[in-house]
Amino acid sequence: MENCKNGCTNGESNCDDHVPGAFKASDITVELTDSPKDKPDPSNLVFGTVFTDHMLLVEWSVEKGWQRPAIKPLQNLSLHPACSVFNYAIELFEGMKAYRGEDGKIHLFRPQLNMERMLRSAKRLTLPAFDKQELLECIRKLIDVERDWVPRSSAASLYVRPVFIGTEPSLGVKRPSKALLYVILSPVGPYFSSGAFSPVSLWADPKYVRAWRGGTGDSKVGGNYGNSLFAQYEAQGYGCQQVLWLYGEDEQITEVGTMNLFLFWTNEHGELELATPPLDGIILPGVTRRSILDLALKWGEFKVSERYMTMAQLVTALKEGRVKEMFGAGTACVVCPVGRILYKDENLEIPSKENKLAARVLKELSDIQYGRTPSDWLVLVGDS
Ligand SMILES: *Cc1c(COP(=O)(O)O)cnc(C)c1O
Repeated sequence: MENCKNGCTNGESNCDDHVPGAFKASDITVELTDSPKDKPDPSNLVFGTVFTDHMLLVEWSVEKGWQRPAIKPLQNLSLHPACSVFNYAIELFEGMKAYRGEDGKIHLFRPQLNMERMLRSAKRLTLPAFDKQELLECIRKLIDVERDWVPRSSAASLYVRPVFIGTEPSLGVKRPSKALLYVILSPVGPYFSSGAFSPVSLWADPKYVRAWRGGTGDSKVGGNYGNSLFAQYEAQGYGCQQVLWLYGEDEQITEVGTMNLFLFWTNEHGELELATPPLDGIILPGVTRRSILDLALKWGEFKVSERYMTMAQLVTALKEGRVKEMFGAGTACVVCPVGRILYKDENLEIPSKENKLAARVLKELSDIQYGRTPSDWLVLVGDS
């Protein structure tokens, strides 16, 4: 056995790259449906409502370890009502997209980052480890089986949703002795259906917190989302679309709804800066966030920072006319400009007329995702 970069010689359970007993993509079984569905018109898809014909399933138990991964017709799950996923929210998920380029080839965008994040989420929820590379390989096979479902449109894509749940049928509050990892696929249309940005309005109130130090805010777990809905609807009651999540006594600005946050401004030292909060445990490490930082660092045109920003600093900067743009970032929309923040009964207008930087980021990232700009961030699916 060769030594891996982590210095492991296999058999060590704490190595992220060599997981003993992990399932292997080469063991995958494929059972195809005999009643394939019609493919939808990608231009009028509502997010997450249409699913492809097949799914990937991999079962795990303490006694038997990981079973062979299986591609099967999309089907309902039959689970005991005591399962830990239903009672204690032992659930995590991922979200990424497969894009079809003009040459017909299908690519994933930096999927290794999603696999790493998923493994971290699994550890956080005491679910078993898997081999990231093997799971990615299984996902590539699933997408290849469903390749006709990847829209032939550079305004649409195939959303990939891996899910990992605890399925032990007992009410004991403990690490699950049974688990199920599955992946479903859903064709999705453009986020901004008009083709132009529509800036979002935010409600900022320290009354609710999305995440806290030592919590699970940096893991993609379902509990974070169920948790946030109450505030989301209160925001809508105030005429705002999403929540600007604040944290701590100093009201740090952390995330926008379910997106990472970027501020493009002249900072308190007079420097032009693109800033996003640091990964200190309360921020979800977004793939889009990382990619925007990487792009902006490569451009080298302004300061790029992972730093704290408070409501007080934002209010002052707005008063002094130093804010250029503010936007959310995530796989669904790539970037989503912020137009207004309701804070302490006052509407703070965010300059969002031009959104030059957001538009540039959107163009550069979608050019990469749809294969118009060559990039080693892309991973090919099949040899289509
Ligand atoms: C998924 C997610 C993001 C964005 O992550 P991407 O990998 O860029 O899609 C940001 N914030 C939260 C809370 C999320 O769950």
